[in-house]
Amino acid sequence: MASAASPKWYPLIVLVLCAVAGLGAVAMLRPPSPVAPVVDEGKAEAAAPRYAEIPFDGASAMAHLESLCKIGPRPSGSEGMRVQQDALEKYFTGLGAKVVRQKFQARHPLDGSAVELANLIISWNPDSRERFLLCAHYDTRPFPDRDPVNPRGKFVGANDGAAGTAILMELGRHMAALKSRRGVDFVLFDGEELVFSERDRYFLGSEYFAQNYRADPPTHRYRQGVLLDLVGDKDLHLPQEQYSVRYAPAVVGDVWGIARRLNVAEFHQVLGQAVRDDHLPLNEIAHIPTADIIDFDYPHWHTEGDLPDKCSAGSLEKVGRVVHEWLRVVVQR
Ligand SMILES: [Zn+2]
Repeated sequence: MASAASPKWYPLIVLVLCAVAGLGAVAMLRPPSPVAPVVDEGKAEAAAPRYAEIPFDGASAMAHLESLCKIGPRPSGSEGMRVQQDALEKYFTGLGAKVVRQKFQARHPLDGSAVELANLIISWNPDSRERFLLCAHYDTRPFPDRDPVNPRGKFVGANDGAAGTAILMELGRHMAALKSRRGVDFVLFDGEELVFSERDRYFLGSEYFAQNYRADPPTHRYRQGVLLDLVGDKDLHLPQEQYSVRYAPAVVGDVWGIARRLNVAEFHQVLGQAVRDDHLPLNEIAHIPTADIIDFDYPHWHTEGDLPDKCSAGSLEKVGRVVHEWLRVVVQR
C-alpha cells in the first residue's frame, strides 16, 4: 500500500535528503573515475590485427615531424605557416584526399591587426554522411615563453604542433587500404595558441570549426572524434584526460581498450589531468564526443628545447598504431 511518510519521520527524511544532496555536490567536484577499457567483442576481436601487423610506420612519421620543424616557426599568419599549408595541401591531395582550407580571421593579440587563419579539412570518402574526426593543431606558439633562458627565442614545436600533424600525415598513407564505408576527416586547427600572454584566447580554429558545424549544419554528421596533442615525447605517458572522460567516455573506453589489447603500456589506464584543449569546443559547441590523447607532462613544453631530438619514432608509432586501429574498428562498426 502506498502511503505518505508519517510526520515523525520527516526530520530523518530531510536529513537523508541533505546527505544525498551533499554527496551529489561532492561527486560533482570530484574528478570522474577512469573509464574501464572496452574490448571489442565477437568477430571484430577475432579479426583484429596484432600490434606488429598494423601498417603505420613510426620512422616515416618521424621524418614528417622533422620536415615540418625544418620549415621553422609556424605561428598563425606567419610565412612559415603559409609554407606549411601549401606543403600539407599538396601532400594530402597527392594521397587522394579532398583538402579544403576553412579560412577565417582573428585580431592579432598584440596590435589588433587582422590575421588570416585557416583550418585544413582533409576528407577521405568525402561523400559519406557518417563521419569520424581526427584532429591536431598545426600552428606553433609565437614564442617559447616558458623558456628559462630565452623566452623570446625560436620555437619550432616538435612535440607541440608537429607531432600530431606528422601522425596524421603517416596515417594518410593508409586511409585507402581501410576501405571504409564511412567518412573520415583529418582537421588541422589553426590558432590553437596565437597566444602572447595567458589573457589571450586559445582554440581559435577549433572554436570556429565547431561554431560553423553547429550554426550551419552540414549534410554530414560526425559521430566521434580523437584529438592528438603532445604525442611525440620520447618518454611517453598517456593517462586518460579528464574532460575526455567526462564528455567522450565511449571514445576513451575504445581507445584505451585498444591500447591495452595491443599491449601499448604508454596508454595508462588511469585518470590524468584536466587539460583545456581543442577538444573542448568540439565537445561543448559542436557536441561531437571527442577524446584528447595528450601527454601533458613534457619537460620542454613551451621552451626552445621542444625539438625533434626530444621526440621519437617509437612514440609516434605507438600512438599512430592505436589510432589506426581505433579508426579501423569504428568505421566498420
Ligand atoms: Zn602549446
